[in-house]
Amino acid sequence: MGRLSTSVDVAVIGAGPYGLSLAAHLRARGVEHRIFGEPMGPWKHNMPRGMLLKSYPWATSLSDPGSEFTVKSFCTERAMPYHDVLTPLTLDRFIEYGEAFRMRYVPAVESKVLTALETADGGLRASFDDGETINARRIVVAVGLQPFEHLPQDAAHLPAELCSHSGKYGSLEALDGKEVVVVGSGSSATDLAALLHERGISVALVARARQLRFANRPHNRSSIERAMAPLSGIGPGWTLGAYAKYPQLIRLLSKERRIKIANHEALGPLGGAFVRDRVVGKVPTLLATSLQSTETRNGKAVLNLVDAGHAKQSLQADHVIFATGYKIDVSRLGFVNQALLRNIRLEEGAPQLSSHYETSVPGLHFIGPAAANSFGPVCRFVYGTYHPARTLAQHLSSILVRSRPAVQVRPFDRTVLP
Ligand SMILES: Cc1cc2nc3c(=O)[nH]c(=O)nc-3n(C[C@H](O)[C@H](O)[C@H](O)COP(=O)(O)OP(=O)(O)OC[C@H]3O[C@@H](n4cnc5c(N)ncnc54)[C@H](O)[C@@H]3O)c2cc1C
Repeated sequence: MGRLSTSVDVAVIGAGPYGLSLAAHLRARGVEHRIFGEPMGPWKHNMPRGMLLKSYPWATSLSDPGSEFTVKSFCTERAMPYHDVLTPLTLDRFIEYGEAFRMRYVPAVESKVLTALETADGGLRASFDDGETINARRIVVAVGLQPFEHLPQDAAHLPAELCSHSGKYGSLEALDGKEVVVVGSGSSATDLAALLHERGISVALVARARQLRFANRPHNRSSIERAMAPLSGIGPGWTLGAYAKYPQLIRLLSKERRIKIANHEALGPLGGAFVRDRVVGKVPTLLATSLQSTETRNGKAVLNLVDAGHAKQSLQADHVIFATGYKIDVSRLGFVNQALLRNIRLEEGAPQLSSHYETSVPGLHFIGPAAANSFGPVCRFVYGTYHPARTLAQHLSSILVRSRPAVQVRPFDRTVLP
């Protein structure tokens, strides 16, 4: 395959909510750019079919330049049922919305994979799986959570066919007829447990937590409730509200404080509000139970467990799903060249970012969940797209030569649907 080399002002790597939102703003500002990745890829392939989104529908809109194309306007246009908080958004509906957003604002996504990123000629050079190499003045990495799946060390003792990370599903078909154990207590664990059980698959849940926690079921709130704990885009309460609204202020805090807020303080493992009744009393659950070791016996996975009273037991399964979350670690991004990696200042594996989401390598930016240690927990939600989309697009348009006249982004045409 011949190697093609081109140049561009901005290359956006990733076409999930963060990449698409940024590209929509860059396009509206006439900043020359290209965007790569599978549109809404992880939502299509790495989240279980039938999942309900945990975030409120009103807080799950991508960011467009006119703040017009919300989930609400999308559903209203198509006469689909919608409520800001009382009814959850389904995964399928959110993917449809993301596709409609892309067709409207980001028509030219290139579905290819970045394989190498390095510094070159005073800029950055990106190579892709089709052989194309691009010299870019700015690269914005928006690859989401998928590259950062976290598995407990003990999982390494199990062969790949007997265990997987929750981020591998997608379709649950491959698990039909098997006995499955899900390890974890957050939303991925409880979502999978509910969906597997409802599919007729024998499933048990094992969690270190003393009890499973679920978000409160949404209801019409009294004015006192609203005053005591206003709803923010990432959950109820004044503190979460501040984190959601002022990510730029979090960056000014000490490193220790920022990391604590991003990873421990704001959001512990929490199941979705609509999943509680589908799991509690239905899926056998071992709480306050830790994994000590794993082994393989007669072709099955064996989990050796210990509970809070130090009692030991073993659980056997055809397959174990580790719903054990994600840990940002830039060194795990296979495309980052070693010399470049050495120059990216990291804080517990995540890039330390400037107010313009720029790493210590000039021209290299990260947005989305990888920015949470700098800008707080809102970066782990779709709701957080508004901040980098606006501030970074504005910054890039102010520093880069405008090579093309601004595309007129027309207001939402209410008679024409994509
Ligand atoms: C099970 C689950 C449920 C969730 N539910 C919610 C929810 O209800 N509400 C909410 O706000 N958030 C939720 N989240 C968090 C959500 O994943 C993030 O908020 C959001 O996806 C981040 O968007 P993103 O654009 O950064 O990344 P993603 O949506 O993950 O998109 C990543 C993009 O990068 C591309 N990419 C990756 N690697 C490369 C490469 N090497 N080259 C080119 N392209 C690449 C992919 O193809 C894709 O286009 C959930 C997460 C999980 C795991």
